[in-house]
Amino acid sequence: MKNPFFLLFVAAVALLPVLPSPEFWITLANYIGLYSIVAIGLVLLTGVAGLTSFGQAAFVGIGAYTSAYLSTAYGLNPWLTLIAGIALTSLAAFALGAVTMRLSGHFLPLGTIAWALSIYYLFGNLEFLGKYDGIGGIPPISLFGIVLSSGRAMYYLIWLMVILVMLTSRNLLNSRPGRAIRALKGGGQMAEAMGVDTAWMKVVVFVYAAVLAGISGWLYAHLQRTVNPSPFSLNMGIEYLFMAVVGGAGHLWGAILGSALLTLLKDQLQGWLPKLIGGSGNYELIVFGILLVILLQHARDGLWPFITRHFRQRRTAVAPAEAPALPVRAKPQAGETLLEVNQAHKRFGGLIAVNNLSFNVKAGEIIGLIGPNGAGKSTMFNLVTGVLAVTGGTIHFRGQPISQLRSREIVKLGIGRTFQHVKLLAGMTVLENVALGAHLRGQAGVARSLVCANRADEAALLHEAALQLERVGLQQHMYEEAGSLALGQQRILEIARALCCDPTLLLLDEPAAGLRYKEKQALAELLKKLKAEGMSILIVEHDMDFVMNLTDRLVVMEFGTKIAEGLPAEVQSDPAVLEAYLGGIDA
Ligand code: ADP
Ligand code: MG
Repeated sequence: MKNPFFLLFVAAVALLPVLPSPEFWITLANYIGLYSIVAIGLVLLTGVAGLTSFGQAAFVGIGAYTSAYLSTAYGLNPWLTLIAGIALTSLAAFALGAVTMRLSGHFLPLGTIAWALSIYYLFGNLEFLGKYDGIGGIPPISLFGIVLSSGRAMYYLIWLMVILVMLTSRNLLNSRPGRAIRALKGGGQMAEAMGVDTAWMKVVVFVYAAVLAGISGWLYAHLQRTVNPSPFSLNMGIEYLFMAVVGGAGHLWGAILGSALLTLLKDQLQGWLPKLIGGSGNYELIVFGILLVILLQHARDGLWPFITRHFRQRRTAVAPAEAPALPVRAKPQAGETLLEVNQAHKRFGGLIAVNNLSFNVKAGEIIGLIGPNGAGKSTMFNLVTGVLAVTGGTIHFRGQPISQLRSREIVKLGIGRTFQHVKLLAGMTVLENVALGAHLRGQAGVARSLVCANRADEAALLHEAALQLERVGLQQHMYEEAGSLALGQQRILEIARALCCDPTLLLLDEPAAGLRYKEKQALAELLKKLKAEGMSILIVEHDMDFVMNLTDRLVVMEFGTKIAEGLPAEVQSDPAVLEAYLGGIDA
């Protein structure tokens, strides 16, 4: 991280205990560090992947109690108990994640609440964990022969861990699995279409966040030298989430900012509020609640973006000039039948959306699937791309049956797709968005990415993304945010992303919808160019004019049924087609 801001941060962290700072500052700084480690995990889980957990305090507790118990009951070295704590936290997170991630979105927060409550009571009721009194007499950690028995000594270990965790999390985010994690937000249909196993990636990021919480718990146990259940309650789980959201749910630095703000604010409020209101109580929770409401109204992305607004934007991935080539698949012979749809049938309850439709696409052809609104085109598209399952008939691609496959298996075979409503990661650069399309052609997983051992893989993926951007003519926008492009350019970005999977067939769902005349022309030029390069394309389109001069053949649908097929000029003058389209306009 050759970032001056980062170096400044490291210098400030290193200097604090050296300066004549009061003991109390060191204590606060230690807590900020401990909370930051948990909040960084939540930034990845909640801010980046869009998965909410109220249960992080329970994972902190598992890390703390594992180390407390093993180091007191068996006299194990704290470094060994760290490994045991990480193992146990991962196991618990894996089990919980595997169950809840398969359920739909809202079950995860609920599951983590139930989890947080039950773990808290478990700590409080287990005899060997000392019930609500907890475990005392925990030994300090030794590092290179130095016994870290004071808060000042622990300070360095805690903040070293914060910096390490920042670096590994940054490495993870800017990698192949990191892009997959970022694509989880918003349903995951796009991520699956790029070949990402979204259920698995959710479990991975959940376990990663839990491990960070477990590490924080380990540090906590050996800083306090005693543990009891109260810091691992649901209340604390909510505070952790609050820290991540206040700072900036999608920004790693926001985790440190949020932890610092909340720790300092809580410290001040705990002094002032009881004097103001009288009596004692957790009044700060009320203030936090009010702050959260204000924040959600006025700064949904947290405070970090406010601070960095005036600085240079985040360092983004850069495409290397040269990189090892990615593997490519065998290209089909000209005229080979690629896609064969045979009596495809799709029923939604009482409605037959696709009624025994048959057609095929040969290598090197552009085929248009057209029809008025509601004809069943998107449904047919979803049958081919594995988003929906057929209720009858078969679909073959290059001789292989695909009607039972999921979308991430279909893209593996070489069918690239775009979306009728553009689906991209608006805050990421064009290059990073397109690189996601090459997901299946990379190898680097989480472990390699954490320690930066993914450089060659990453270079190859980014290089491929840059090549595809050049192919579609978007190279001058490579480092812009995808969300800032015009709709026409976003559609072309999606085509570049689809090309990154090295497809033999490209499926486009209404690529011209909402485009201005000039944008439509540019799109048509691009598709002709791709055809000239040997690409086969199936376009689902409502706009008859757009496909007329572009396609080799048209298949016309109405009410789920094929009403015509042939050369564009023939189809255009077909009475049934005219009737369908004029009827469609009248309606
Ligand atoms: P097109 O893309 O040609 O405009 P669609 O394939 O979107 O048409 O829709 C075809 C018909 O199927 C419509 O009547 C639509 O209401 C219906 N339909 C589409 N998807 C679903 C679904 N998931 N559940 C129920 N009905 C659906
Ligand atoms: Mg449609």
